[in-house]
Formats: sequence, structure tokens, C-alpha cells
Amino acid sequence: MSGPSQAANAPPLLAARGLAAGYGGRPVLDGIDLELRPNEVLCLIGHNGAGKTTLLKALFGLVPLARGDVLLDGRVLARPAPAALAAAGIAYVPEGRGIFPGLTVDETLRLALWAAAVPVAERPARLGWVHDVLPRLREFGARRAGTLSGGEQQMVSIGRALLGRPRCLLMDEPSIGLAPKLFQDLLRPIRALQQATGMSVLLVEQNVREALKISDRVLAMKSGAIIREATPADLADNARLMELY
Ligand code: ATP
Repeated sequence: MSGPSQAANAPPLLAARGLAAGYGGRPVLDGIDLELRPNEVLCLIGHNGAGKTTLLKALFGLVPLARGDVLLDGRVLARPAPAALAAAGIAYVPEGRGIFPGLTVDETLRLALWAAAVPVAERPARLGWVHDVLPRLREFGARRAGTLSGGEQQMVSIGRALLGRPRCLLMDEPSIGLAPKLFQDLLRPIRALQQATGMSVLLVEQNVREALKISDRVLAMKSGAIIREATPADLADNARLMELY
């Protein structure tokens, strides 16, 4: 993975140019320009219904583009598709955890190792690495995922995404329903991993105060458009943040 010095010259890892998308002919996003740079946490904020999830999905090929482009490593993708993006090291952590409640955590992670086509010989080390990043996953490995708390389930969902050793995580509201303390328990290890490896993270969050603590840049969305780019420091003052809402 690239370090900060290489990152300065590198093209954006993932980008949108003039992107428009919607559902069944109804436009949601219009003219979105976005760059997710190597080695950064970029936080996407905005009201309910602003289009944050739709943008994440469009970047990952889950919603077709009406216009514009998605670029990976500076190259336009003819048609963004989840399988190709996953193979290129982009992992998507959907809103709502998306886990199988009847499987144990260990079974969930083994299934993910298989789905990520991690060679059998590498699987124990890969699992050990994810357990080192999120140690609590080891503790509740034998529990059925459906019996875990919301935050624990979210940890499983993120752990599953990490098993493919992505260079980019797209995370949709991982903290939904979590208390602020749990937010930091969940996302500090990801921030630490990101800083250690140069990974990039695009984080959609409603819990703006907590999200700003672990972000490098912020984009604010309103009605399907990006209305402001800022640093967390720019928005430290409550009034500035309120202007966006
Ligand atoms: P939230 O913070 O509430 O998750 P968001 O900013 O992520 O909101 P989106 O979920 O992207 O917003 O929704 C943007 C708009 O697209 C909303 O008007 C929503 O109703 C609509 N929308 C989202 N998903 C679909 C869908 N599958 N079919 C039709 N319309 C949809």
C-alpha cells in the first residue's frame, strides 16, 4: 500500500466526475464530483435523503449511472460493477450490517474468507490479522451473529469487509443506533489501521461530531449535490456545522 509521500502524487483512489444517478428514472444525484484520495478518511454528511447512500452505491456499481463517470486509480470504469471493484480492493460495508443472524461469528468470517477467494493456506493468518485489528471478534466467535448487540454486529460486518485486505473501505453509517462511546470503540481501530496502512475510507455518517474526530476531510451533501468541502477543524465551531443543516 502507498504511504503518505507516495500518496501526494498518486491519482485519487476512487473518484466521481459529473455523476448522476437515481431510481427508476427519478434523479437523486446530479453532477457529483468527488475524490477519495489515498490514505485519507473522507466523511460524507448531510440530511436524511440527501443521497449519501445512493452515492456510495453508485461508486460501488450497485446503482447504475445516468451520466458521468466513476474513476478507479485515475482510470474511467466503463461500467462500475461490485465484483470488479471488490477484486480491485474496494470493500463496501452496507448500512444495516447485512449479517446472517443464524451463523456464528466464526462461520461468518470463514464464509467471507471463501467469498474473498483468500487462498486456503493464507486463511488462518488473514483471520488472525482481522482479530488483531478488532480483538473483540475473537471473544464472541462462537456466538450466533443474531444474538450480538448492534455495535458487535457492526464489528462483524466491518471485520468481514477487512478479510479481503481492502485498500479502500466504503462504510455506510456504521454507527447507526450506537452511543458515542461505542462509535469510538468501533471506528478508532479502523482509523488506526487506515493510518498504519495508507488505506482510504469513505464514511457516510449522521453522527457528525464523532465522525469528525476520525476524519481528514468532510463533504456535505444536500438534495443530491455536494454543497461544501471542509476539514474537521473548519466545522469545529457548532455554528459552522449548523449552517450546513
Ligand atoms: P439517510 O441518511 O436517511 O440514509 P441518504 O442521504 O443516504 O439518507 P439515500 O438513501 O441515498 O439518502 O436516498 C436519497 C433519495 O433516494 C431519497 O429520496 C430516497 O427516498 C430515494 N431512494 C433511496 N433508495 C431508493 C430505492 N431503492 N428506490 C427508490 N428511491 C430510493
